[in-house]
Amino acid sequence: MKEIILVKYGEIILKGGNRAKFEQILMRNIRNAVKNIAEVSVQTVQATIYIEVKQEEKMDLVVERLEKIFGIVSITRAGVVEKDIEAIKAGAYEYCKDMLLPGKKFKVEAKRADKRFPKTSVEIAIEVGGHLHETCDGLVVDVHEPEVTVKVEVRDFAAYVYCEQKKKKGQGGMPIGTGSKATLLLSGGIDSPVAGHMIAKRGVEIDAVNFFSFPYTSDRAKEKVIELAGILAQYTSVIRLHIVPFTEIQLAIRDNCPEEHMTLIMRRFMMKIAERIAQKNRSMALITGESVGQVASQTIAALNVTNSVVEMPVLRPLIGMDKDEIVIRSREIGTFETSILPYEDCCTVFTPKHPTTQPKLATIMKTESVLPIEELIEKALEGVETVTVYPS
Ligand code: ATP
Ligand code: MG
Repeated sequence: MKEIILVKYGEIILKGGNRAKFEQILMRNIRNAVKNIAEVSVQTVQATIYIEVKQEEKMDLVVERLEKIFGIVSITRAGVVEKDIEAIKAGAYEYCKDMLLPGKKFKVEAKRADKRFPKTSVEIAIEVGGHLHETCDGLVVDVHEPEVTVKVEVRDFAAYVYCEQKKKKGQGGMPIGTGSKATLLLSGGIDSPVAGHMIAKRGVEIDAVNFFSFPYTSDRAKEKVIELAGILAQYTSVIRLHIVPFTEIQLAIRDNCPEEHMTLIMRRFMMKIAERIAQKNRSMALITGESVGQVASQTIAALNVTNSVVEMPVLRPLIGMDKDEIVIRSREIGTFETSILPYEDCCTVFTPKHPTTQPKLATIMKTESVLPIEELIEKALEGVETVTVYPS
């Protein structure tokens, strides 16, 4: 039996006049995500995207990719049948029989989008339900708490049959490309990849910046960040990762500033450099994985000190989340196992024993003013290495 994938999208329906544009972007993202896997045809009719896959054996792989595309609410594989009640009955049985086992409580739901079809949706449901009840031994009709819901949709070109319980949940959110671009400060930790995923989910294209302290951090640490970017790219299609040499700045801070201010001054440099890179790449905001109170540099007072060095908005999607909630997200999106690999991050190498938790902006500005700030920033920017990271 011929099979098709039906994709439903959510919020983009709300966008009124922009809807067609949003649909086009979502379809483009779908085509891009699967183009290396199979030949597909993608089209949209009546708020559903229909995906035909030429190579049937690639169906699972295509569905797996679709599960990572923002803007998709559900993914359903369905059998395609002729728009004829006998064909629909036979097709519903054929396509759903593996679920229609003895003792199972079931019901049929029908939808008739094509009003020219001679039977109403209630009539279709009754006829198909009757046929399945007769054909499959031991099925029990239960319209209130069914274990198996057979769905029939009669649409313009064909009818589709599928089992509701096999429907897969999509990522939700908005299609990437509908919400301009932001730059993620991507460390090798647990938090920042989750932060990037959350903002990308709102349709925002993501660039990433990583601060790298060779030789204090190893090449393995760099590979780990590239690997994390690769996992994020599964959702965003590609990520441009800017790797910034940070050792000189860290050494200058260590040698010239009070130890308890080290982390905050370092974080101010990171923000400033990330903002410059963002501006150069037409990115309109920064993203960090900060959460209130998680560490000394993330108290409100400390956030104020790091924030005040940039003009762009800084998006902190994890701001009110507990670590265990972030870990759950990180497992769901697939970055956790990589994040916990034990390679040193540039911050862990230069951590003060007693960092300030209630810093005053004026004090920090004074202690950092002994550094040739602009010169250090310029030099770091000159050494940036940019890698285009594709989905892993
Ligand atoms: P993460 O788990 O994301 O590393 P964290 O809890 O370790 O976060 P910090 O080390 O204080 O927190 O870093 C706060 C945020 O600063 C990170 O979430 C990230 O956005 C950014 N950041 C920290 N270190 C780096 C780095 N080496 N390169 C790029 N961004 C960084
Ligand atoms: Mg960190």
